[in-house]
Amino acid sequence: MMPTPQETFWSDQTLAAVRDAARDPKLLPVAVVAAPDNTRCSWCDCDDSEDSPHNRPGYRCAGCPETAMSVVAVHSGPHRRYDYPACDRHRDDIITTLVRATGGRP
Ligand SMILES: [Zn+2]
Ligand SMILES: [Zn+2]
Repeated sequence: MMPTPQETFWSDQTLAAVRDAARDPKLLPVAVVAAPDNTRCSWCDCDDSEDSPHNRPGYRCAGCPETAMSVVAVHSGPHRRYDYPACDRHRDDIITTLVRATGGRP
């Protein structure tokens, strides 16, 4: 499925905001760090709309087979951190999704 022009535009805007925020960690609680060796990407190529197979009971996603080159670390609160290992292809997808989930800049 190809993204619509609006989605591409939105995504570019979001990524630009993330890159700005990455220079100032106070703006967005997301950091990208190098992944340890032999870490597998935590993402997948499934549709993330309401029709996503992940919404089906019992669905088991095979995930992305790539080796993660980076880890997207999200800080939620002072002592909580969630790490999402990401291959080069999925890194921006993960950041974009996290930004959407956190509603942009806090
Ligand atoms: Zn999946
Ligand atoms: Zn991947």
